[in-house]
Amino acid sequence: MSGTCSFVTRSAEETKELARRLAGLLEPGDCLALEGDLGAGKTTFAQGLAEALGVEEAVDSPTFTIVKEYDGNLPFYHMDVYRIESPDEQLGLEEYFYGDGVCLVEWASRVEPLLPPETVWMRLSVLGDGGREIRIESSHGRALRLCGELSKR
Ligand code: ADP
Ligand code: MG
Repeated sequence: MSGTCSFVTRSAEETKELARRLAGLLEPGDCLALEGDLGAGKTTFAQGLAEALGVEEAVDSPTFTIVKEYDGNLPFYHMDVYRIESPDEQLGLEEYFYGDGVCLVEWASRVEPLLPPETVWMRLSVLGDGGREIRIESSHGRALRLCGELSKR
């Protein structure tokens, strides 16, 4: 497996658990860019992350709204940019990317030029047996630190 670190989850619950562990390491300004096919588990991952960030509201797919903002211990900005079209819509996103919360972007490659330099790129892949590989692909300092902590147990 390539990437800076990778994990295999066998259920949606295990994916949420990995996300909860990652959430405990995040700080204001952190941005997670998620790539992976429809059904790979991006929204499931976002749900675990939100839960551990103290968001009480149910998190669902933001496909039709592009951004959903949640209040937790930190603000949590959940984005799905699959349907983004106009440059105006794109410009509005930067206040979230450079805001004081944690952002998670589904289909992030569509807005790649707008993302902060230390964005943590992640890829979710469906494995042949139905499990998921969840990989951190970035290799900058922030990603290395997160991988180091996540790989501890
Ligand atoms: P995406 O946002 O990438 O389109 P979703 O999170 O909405 O994907 O959907 C993932 C689907 O796959 C859910 O129905 C979930 O229950 C199922 N699933 C099965 N195994 C896993 C796993 N290991 N991790 C995440 N989701 C899984
Ligand atoms: Mg989704």
